Amino acid sequence: MTAQTEKHSFEAEVQQVLSLVIHSLYTNREIFLRELISNASDALDKLRFESLTDASLVEEGETLGVALEVDATTHVLRVADNGIGMDREELTKNLGTIASSGTRRFLEASADDGKGDERPDLIGQFGVGFYSAFMVAEEVVVETRRAGSDEGWRWSSKGDGSYEIEPVEGLARGTVVSLHLREASEGEDGDGPRKFLEEFTLREVVRKYSDFVEYPIQMEIERNEPKLDDEGKPVEGETVTETKLETLNSQKPLWSRPKSEITDEEHAEFYRHLTHDWNEPFGNLHFSAEGSLEYTALLYLPKQPPFDQFDPSNRESNVSLYVRRVLIQRECTELLPSWLRFVRGVVECSDLPLNVSRETLQDDPRLGQIRKRLVKKVIDELGSLLGKDREAYSGFWEGFGQVIKEGIWSGDDSDGRIAGVCLFASSNGEAPTTLEEYVGRMAEGQETIHVLTGADRITVEASPLLDAVLARGEEVIYLIDPVDEWMLQRLTEFDGKKIIPLDRADSTEDDDAREKREELQKEHEGLLGALKDPLEEDIEEVRFTSRLKDSPAVLVAAEGGISGHMERMLKRSGQEVPPQKRVLELNPDHDLVKSLTKLYGVDQKSPRIAEAAEVLHGQALLAEGGSPKDPKRFGQLVTDLLLNSVKG
Ligand code: ADP
Ligand code: MG
Repeated sequence: MTAQTEKHSFEAEVQQVLSLVIHSLYTNREIFLRELISNASDALDKLRFESLTDASLVEEGETLGVALEVDATTHVLRVADNGIGMDREELTKNLGTIASSGTRRFLEASADDGKGDERPDLIGQFGVGFYSAFMVAEEVVVETRRAGSDEGWRWSSKGDGSYEIEPVEGLARGTVVSLHLREASEGEDGDGPRKFLEEFTLREVVRKYSDFVEYPIQMEIERNEPKLDDEGKPVEGETVTETKLETLNSQKPLWSRPKSEITDEEHAEFYRHLTHDWNEPFGNLHFSAEGSLEYTALLYLPKQPPFDQFDPSNRESNVSLYVRRVLIQRECTELLPSWLRFVRGVVECSDLPLNVSRETLQDDPRLGQIRKRLVKKVIDELGSLLGKDREAYSGFWEGFGQVIKEGIWSGDDSDGRIAGVCLFASSNGEAPTTLEEYVGRMAEGQETIHVLTGADRITVEASPLLDAVLARGEEVIYLIDPVDEWMLQRLTEFDGKKIIPLDRADSTEDDDAREKREELQKEHEGLLGALKDPLEEDIEEVRFTSRLKDSPAVLVAAEGGISGHMERMLKRSGQEVPPQKRVLELNPDHDLVKSLTKLYGVDQKSPRIAEAAEVLHGQALLAEGGSPKDPKRFGQLVTDLLLNSVKG
């Protein structure tokens, strides 16, 4: 400690991670090296990018890379890089708080079942970033100097709740992480963490997890070579020790290798490196385009959605853009539309200039061209995954379907290809269906695709609007995701068949039926008017319908109006909705409606008619998942009705 040493406490969440890491008897702890190398590689990417605009940051002829150094006597393993480094502020922020979303997820997952301490396996899956160093080290020291600054800093911690920071002189640019490896504790095999001082072990681990890192990961290797005499012949029984710098990884970016040679494990490791996600990818697509614009793309579809998938501030796409091996932009938003923000990966284009900036990228027509192709390829891939393994695709769809449907809503689906890979709940059973399958099952004479929106399956299934359609043996698609109402504004047909929401006025009525209905309405004009009077504020029209079977009444949207479901969603999200007058449709064949007709015939002024109107309206609201306008009055009316019927 010097006079300038400052002691800080870790953010509470960091301490939580550290104690999980330290107290887990973890067998797969080698992943700490993957995490540190991945951080070094990120730091080198950042330096290479900054040096595009400030050439003075890197010396001519300098090799950017990672070095592993071993000190067997003090049991220290160092992971050094000559990357971007960190200044004081970055050091405190990055290593004192939880920067990585992967780590945050790890915390959430281990808190989920309250058994974090007993679930050390999670650490291997998530990779808790920098903090995984404490799985093997009793003390971690980070010495770092940021590119462009001449102040160096030493950060150190024993993982016991606090860390120290002090200035140091004479550091090279970049970061050296020194791990003081723990002794094997009781019950641990062999050397415990100190096996990471062995060349063999380090070589294995680097090859396993970090082979594709583009920068050389080097290590000085000592070899006993036979001693040579003046003529170059080995001298019997004598050796000399030689030290050679060896590169442990093949350094070939995965996307530049032939598709057929890449194993699933390599994809999984590269995907983890890229995304810090702990799962394997759900699928990948890898292709090159040749011709006027040459590029290679390696894209991954994740298995599980990130927790912030719908965070409005984080809706941009996420693919990295490389130009001739240089990472230009980690999250290049021009390469994919927002609704494909879950796709991760890399596009490398050799035809773009190295000095492209964010601004010029935005208007570069070449990126637009790449984007179009990528979108098409991703949809094709979704289609083929859908065809290959329905169950796996359904799982994927549960996580990402809502986002993919944003693509339809955003207007990117003029050819219906996105709609083709969507899965929907339907009256056909529990398993979701595609539109194509729906069309294949359409009944004879059924001309349109029926859909109904609602808050959830139970609400939709309870809708009186299904009565007649289901009775005819026709199927209805249940649209129960919040995005569906918006999607419907664009999704108006599929495979030449119109898609018709059941809760819009007259959506299923043909000319014949209309004529009959209008005749009947004329006959009962008086009753319909009397029913409408008390509902004047909310109802544009009370009329008959032929689409009900067991229910007396239902609410539908007036021509050009929005559905009740949409109205409720908008209100819940705090938006102003202009008052919507709806249409109350009555089932002329229902006993209740028939009785009302009779009652009106003998006593036009009966107060029971207005009461019935109110109760029918309230019931119709309940049936669609809404609530009566004045619940107290509705309750009172129902109680009075009950009372009358109980009294007999
Ligand atoms: P993640 O890599 O997922 O962001 P980590 O816990 O691995 O999370 O690292 C936290 C942060 O610390 C990194 O985002 C980076 O800003 C910083 N960092 C870690 N190692 C280095 C390094 N070798 N050089 C520069 N910055 C680093
Ligand atoms: Mg990391």
